[in-house]
Amino acid sequence: MSTPDIRMVDLHRQYQRLKPQIDAAMAEVLSATTFIKGPQVTRFEQNLATYFGRTEVVSCGNGTDALQLALMALRLPAGAEIIVPSFTFVASAEVIALLGFTPVFADCNADTFNLTADIVEPLINTKTAAIIPVHLFGQCVDMEPLMALAEKHGLWVIEDNCQAIGANYIDSTGHKKKAGTIGHIGCTSFFPSKNLGCFGDGGAVFTSDPVLAKRIRAIANHGMEQRYYHNAIGINSRLDSLQAAVLDVKLTQLDDFNARRRTAATFYNKALSGIDAIQTPVQHTKSTHVYHQYTLKVEPVFRDELRQHLTKTGIPSMIYYPVPLHRQAAYVQYANQRLPISEQLSDSVLSLPMHTELTTIELAYIADAITAFFRP
Ligand SMILES: *Cc1c(COP(=O)(O)O)cnc(C)c1O
Repeated sequence: MSTPDIRMVDLHRQYQRLKPQIDAAMAEVLSATTFIKGPQVTRFEQNLATYFGRTEVVSCGNGTDALQLALMALRLPAGAEIIVPSFTFVASAEVIALLGFTPVFADCNADTFNLTADIVEPLINTKTAAIIPVHLFGQCVDMEPLMALAEKHGLWVIEDNCQAIGANYIDSTGHKKKAGTIGHIGCTSFFPSKNLGCFGDGGAVFTSDPVLAKRIRAIANHGMEQRYYHNAIGINSRLDSLQAAVLDVKLTQLDDFNARRRTAATFYNKALSGIDAIQTPVQHTKSTHVYHQYTLKVEPVFRDELRQHLTKTGIPSMIYYPVPLHRQAAYVQYANQRLPISEQLSDSVLSLPMHTELTTIELAYIADAITAFFRP
């Protein structure tokens, strides 16, 4: 059998499948030449707000800007501490440091890779102003106890929902809420490889607080509500009309995209569950999983060798993330902090190809290669 052409993320095949609709949507922008703040942007914001159910949506330049806008809108006092996981993409913490606030790195749960209220609670002190839970790899942080903790201490909660758009959180009464709509503010990214990705950079901020929404919209536009009158120091961060047009098409497919990811994950789970040296992803009972990444935990002694074996077999894989943030050179002042679970995870995680176009033949090829490595 010839080696299948397997990619970590296959945007090419997804585009081929949606080409007629996407090309038509882009052609509409090109002929109207409404490249910035065109009607496509407003339409997409409204459709996304409808998808999330009532929450106000402000689109912006990328997911990192979304987090920065959220923090700027909260008008936190100088010296504020913000609790954020160490085992995440750097953007979650970068914006805190960039704005002159202090990131306080938290460890995570070894099975879900996410923050929990129990981990956060001991880190709270009088300087703590906010928590940034990250819904890592596509499933929600257990938000109910976290929101209760935040309420008790008067803290803001900004959800970093860059990896879990479309996931549902199910609270203890059985009520479903979309990831990104539970905290005071939610942030997402439309980077091409995210579950809802555009053809460049893009992002959005969600909130159901109209005062915050208005402030965020102004900050994203140079602090301007009325043209050339600047009430606050802002930034320039916008989603352009071409990206909004692409996203509006893809939004209609988001639930289908996530279902396709889940189907692939179910295949992997079944095929790999019997291998002792591997732990397949653990799904929290209070969240659906949209598998932004399908991430195995592999016994550290085998991880890098397994990865080499996969590369030789024509299968890409990635380590998200090889170094937790408190061990990064840019955050050297945290070098002595010990966050044992985050550190162990960096030595054991391995993410397999995960996207909307994986075929059963490809999934079987990948699973067989992993099985063959452990049972030659
Ligand atoms: C992708 C990502 C971001 C940043 O999004 P960009 O659009 O690349 O700026 C932030 N946080 C997490 C967890 C992400 O995965």
